[in-house]
Amino acid sequence: MRPLGGKLWDGNTPGLGPAHLACRCLLAETEAGLVLVDTGFGMGDVNRPVPRISRPFLYADRPSLEADQTALSRIRQLGLDPRDVRHIVMTHLDFDHAGGISDFPRAAVHVHAAEAAAARERRGTIGQLRWRPQQLTSPMREYATGTESWFGLPAIGGLHGLPPSFRLVPLPGHTPGHCGVAIDTGQGWVLHAGDAVFMHSELDEDPRCPPLSRAYQDVMESDRAARLTTQAQLRRLKREHGDEVTILCTHDPVTPPAALRFARAPAALPGVA
Ligand SMILES: [Zn+2]
Repeated sequence: MRPLGGKLWDGNTPGLGPAHLACRCLLAETEAGLVLVDTGFGMGDVNRPVPRISRPFLYADRPSLEADQTALSRIRQLGLDPRDVRHIVMTHLDFDHAGGISDFPRAAVHVHAAEAAAARERRGTIGQLRWRPQQLTSPMREYATGTESWFGLPAIGGLHGLPPSFRLVPLPGHTPGHCGVAIDTGQGWVLHAGDAVFMHSELDEDPRCPPLSRAYQDVMESDRAARLTTQAQLRRLKREHGDEVTILCTHDPVTPPAALRFARAPAALPGVA
């Protein structure tokens, strides 16, 4: 996404022109086939942005909507077959995460029940703008908050058809059913924390976030107290278990170096920082 305001969004781009924000998805190669975590914008959005994306967010976030940046294209660029994507695990159902679901009609979609309910109800102006029924046409498998514990956080295991290495970790506040998706890679855990934070520097002991990214989070939050609690829990997780868990968020354009060791061929993809 390229919202105007440069480093006031991403902390790095000089001037007040287009910033550079990612819509980070993860792809895992598993014994149950390919598993995608979040889907970013998809071909439907590229081909016909309105009404799949609401005009206010289309103009404010200015997504680049390039076909070769969709998850569908990225998977092909890796030499893999998008039809082998068997599962999609969603952090939440905002328009900038769910647009690619329809590019994988064979995949089972897994989401927290509170998120699916919120996306159906679409309460308030923000609810109408962020959850887009035109993107959310696939059936979804919904999960209520479970009783498992994962590094001291409540978690949902036993996701239907997925390997036992996957967990949904409820991290509410940005949206009601917002979750992290935790994956045991066998060489440490990766946690895709979605929009629980917008910049990885928010997880530092001295948290920092560029002002426009901070303001955007304030506007988009469904529950302030829950969001701040979630962020405190993620900081504790990083402080106490940072050597065992690599935390990623969606919109920070820079991938933490610790996460690159899990990547199959990071340099092979154009535009990957
Ligand atoms: Zn987002």
